[in-house]
Amino acid sequence: MSDVVLRLHNAGRTYPGTPPVESLRGVDLTVGTGEMVAVVGPSGSGKTTLLNLAAGLDRPTSGTVHLAGRAVEHLTDRQLSGLRAHALGVVFQQFFLLDQLSAVDNVATGLLYRGVPARHRRRAAAEALERVGLAHRAVHQAGKLSGGERQRVAIARAIVGRPALVLADEPTGNLDSATGAQILALLQDLNAGGVTLLVITHDATVAAACPRQVRLHDGRIATDSGDVA
Ligand code: ADP
Ligand code: MG
Repeated sequence: MSDVVLRLHNAGRTYPGTPPVESLRGVDLTVGTGEMVAVVGPSGSGKTTLLNLAAGLDRPTSGTVHLAGRAVEHLTDRQLSGLRAHALGVVFQQFFLLDQLSAVDNVATGLLYRGVPARHRRRAAAEALERVGLAHRAVHQAGKLSGGERQRVAIARAIVGRPALVLADEPTGNLDSATGAQILALLQDLNAGGVTLLVITHDATVAAACPRQVRLHDGRIATDSGDVA
């Protein structure tokens, strides 16, 4: 049995209101080191809520979330931020790069909150760019790169600290299908090299490429191809 990097146990997230919105309910999900898991489901099914819990950006209103072996409910906000900086990398549909900075400086920001000296940050960033096939664009301004290149920079930023878990929210959502296929191939390569991935996607091709698919419906897990119980 592999190490567990993410575990939601009977996790729920209710947003206050009249009536309250039960965005997630009774979710049990365990992700082990080395897995590549797709999370799919219709709009409003709870995918973003699940990502926010998995990323430590939000806390469950019921049940428990364990991230890299730590119970989120026992951590202060400050401790949770520290855990996120060390254990997680996140890739977004909109890339969220600093357009004025070079590719390598963008990647280096992935280490800013880990107390790594600047010189080491740059070296690690250059290595991460190489892993995503973008070494030749290191000193280019991020704002001048193509969409696919920008997503590679964002992926390099997510993996530069070798986090226990990388979360990707619609990583191909802003890309044409050929470029999306290249990004998907890159994610598969990284997974083959040991990166643990949780990928939220609307794209059936992306989901099918993941060894395990979890389908959400109305805030619950409807099916989990990796659930052998
Ligand atoms: P998905 O990402 O699958 O489209 P979400 O997790 O964004 O689904 O949303 C699930 C449900 O929770 C939806 O009904 C949505 O309207 C509701 N919801 C999400 N965020 C909030 C919020 N901040 N306040 C109130 N309701 C929310
Ligand atoms: Mg969403």
